[in-house]
Amino acid sequence: MSARKENFARSTQIARAAIPFMSERAIPITPTNYLIWYEYYDGRKIELKEEIDQLKARNALFDEDLHLDLYRRHFERTGEEELVDKMAGEMAVLDKVNNAAQRILAPITEDLAKLSAHNRNYAEKLSDLNRSISDDDSAENVRQIVRTLQAATDEAVRENRSVGDHLSTYRQSMDDLRQSLYKAMADARRDDLTGIANRRAFNEDFAGEIEWVKRQGAVSGLVIFDIDKFKRINDTYGHPVGDNALVAIATIVSHVLLGAGRLYRFGGEEFAALIRGRGAEDARKLAESARKAVEANEFTIRGKVEAITISGGVAAITLDGGPANILKRADDALYLAKSSGRNVIKTEGQLDSPPLPH
Ligand code: GH3
Ligand code: MG
Ligand code: MG
Repeated sequence: MSARKENFARSTQIARAAIPFMSERAIPITPTNYLIWYEYYDGRKIELKEEIDQLKARNALFDEDLHLDLYRRHFERTGEEELVDKMAGEMAVLDKVNNAAQRILAPITEDLAKLSAHNRNYAEKLSDLNRSISDDDSAENVRQIVRTLQAATDEAVRENRSVGDHLSTYRQSMDDLRQSLYKAMADARRDDLTGIANRRAFNEDFAGEIEWVKRQGAVSGLVIFDIDKFKRINDTYGHPVGDNALVAIATIVSHVLLGAGRLYRFGGEEFAALIRGRGAEDARKLAESARKAVEANEFTIRGKVEAITISGGVAAITLDGGPANILKRADDALYLAKSSGRNVIKTEGQLDSPPLPH
């Protein structure tokens, strides 16, 4: 064998030890890194070999910094840059990959590269292996490659599992976040005292109802209820008792409307109901049922049965005049109910004359 051929055979032999080692440890196969490991497997640079053996025994992490340090101390100062060029040339030879292996590995490499940073790492290993398969592979080299591939795959599986764990933790915190967001949104629409929807929810839903009416070409109903002479309950029994009566009335009226409409706490002792797809007359009937249910309820306060009643004003939700106008018509009807003696429901249709003042 000529000296040149002998040299090449030895370089190839060293490469076949160095490259799988580097791949296994995910060490990028750059010219300087390769030089370090080439010389290590060549074994003639005693100091380098001893230092790396010690590092390996200590299970040191062969990262970029360590390679840079090794390169500076063992090569740079001795002016061996030329050698680096030579090594780079040899790597180009090794870059001639086995085409069949590449055809199999390349698509996997591509797919895996898409998956995650971990998988990119794995994909790099695969493509490094790809590169290390030359035309005249010995059985031992193939075995070594398979071993490396196995180890890299095991590692990738482990890493994917940990990515999976991260993802499920991430998903869990996203779920928590979404739930607390829903809760915050629901809280923002709920009245603290009665637990029914609040004025804010009414404003949102009222606008939504007008949109619905527009889309469907239908009519809905709006009722505004007001507790009669409620100030007297507060004055007689105190504010907390008044609060309890408010909760009871909200519950009774909600039950009556159930399935047909939704009740909102509109103001202090006022409630509003949106009744989808029902005109003023249908809405009035429902409101009348609610009024009767409240009237029929016996509020027992400090052993004494109190009669509490409500009045209501009804307006149709149509596209005439806009939201403020609809509210005013319902409010005017409520005025009429109050001025007609209370404990009664009135509709906007009964407003043929301007309502009397309170
Ligand atoms: P009317 O039949 O004309 O509606 O008489 P009223 O006494 O109900 O009307 P007025 O507007 O004079 O008084 C309303 C009362 O409702 C006064 C207020 O203290 C009471 N009120 C409003 N909000 C609350 C509340 O959250 N809790 C309690 N306990 N009382 C409330
Ligand atoms: Mg009032
Ligand atoms: Mg009142």
